[in-house]
Amino acid sequence: MNIFYDILVVGSGPAGSTAAIYASRDGFKTGVIEGNMPGGLLTTTTVIENFPGFVNGIDGFELVMNMKNQAIRYGAEYIQGKVAKIEKNDNFVVYTEDNTIIEAKSVIIASGSSPRKLGYESEARFWGKGVHTCATCDGAFYRNKEVVVIGGGDSAMEESHFLAKFATKVTILNRSEEPKATKVMQDKALSDSKVSLINSTEVIEFFGNDKLERIRIKNSITGANEEMLVDGVFLAIGHIPNTGYLEGFAELEPSGNIKVSHNVYTSVDGLFAAGDVVDHIYKQAISSAGMGCMAAIAARKYLQK
Ligand code: NDP
Repeated sequence: MNIFYDILVVGSGPAGSTAAIYASRDGFKTGVIEGNMPGGLLTTTTVIENFPGFVNGIDGFELVMNMKNQAIRYGAEYIQGKVAKIEKNDNFVVYTEDNTIIEAKSVIIASGSSPRKLGYESEARFWGKGVHTCATCDGAFYRNKEVVVIGGGDSAMEESHFLAKFATKVTILNRSEEPKATKVMQDKALSDSKVSLINSTEVIEFFGNDKLERIRIKNSITGANEEMLVDGVFLAIGHIPNTGYLEGFAELEPSGNIKVSHNVYTSVDGLFAAGDVVDHIYKQAISSAGMGCMAAIAARKYLQK
């Protein structure tokens, strides 16, 4: 038997759950497909200090769970699963990977993004055995060890600050001449004496036996390269949008982000998008939540037409 919703939201991060709060509170029968990581990437962060309304910050996991419970309070239904394919006949037909079929009059895509990898064969070999993307998930394995964080953005600074709780030494390797992270995040990370930053440096290979033991680093200006002993490496080099299942259905940008007009309108009538699947510039919890709100209002207008 098919499940039927007025509005189906794909994704349960700040964009998805905010859309679900608005849609369900508006009285629409609303479903949310949670995806592989219920609550999205915010569940892997620690305290969020810049989400308005929380004077002392709020834990990322707690924030998204509060949003989910707020949506449930208005009647939204959360469904475990990951979307494999979407079609449109009179209504949208959404197929999950475990073959659940869900129909909806309107769909809001908020399936977020996944951490970018470097793409080397040696990186794949040591994945989870010294190479990681989430300090809050795996940082505790590196108590009294030496780690490297790759990247120069706010995520790299945040991961380094967190890893310094466990590791004896955290070295940030940034491929550019200057890190692109905001000053406040750089100051937060680099004020810890265990954390240091090396600019103009790329990691080009990973070595070890059963687990990672060494990396080869290259100076991105001179090309000079050398090996460095390390226990663990955390990648913080940005994210790629989770939109593969939309290829051939909705128009995408070359980056993989969903092409939109007026912030949340996709190329398919009745299909809206919000959060990291669209946004490759701001990527904040609050801007994603704002887009979720816009998408729900756009879906309401579409359904009332
Ligand atoms: P960013 O896109 O801001 O930074 C990515 C970093 O990874 C850059 O330093 C980039 O280098 C580097 N990089 C990209 N590809 C490679 C590669 N192949 N090899 C080596 N280095 C690479 O991503 P973030 O995840 O850091 O941040 C995303 C957004 O989230 C931002 O808007 C940020 O402000 C926000 N954020 C906010 C936080 C907060 O306020 N608490 C915490 C974390 C994130 P290059 O500069 O050379 O391109």
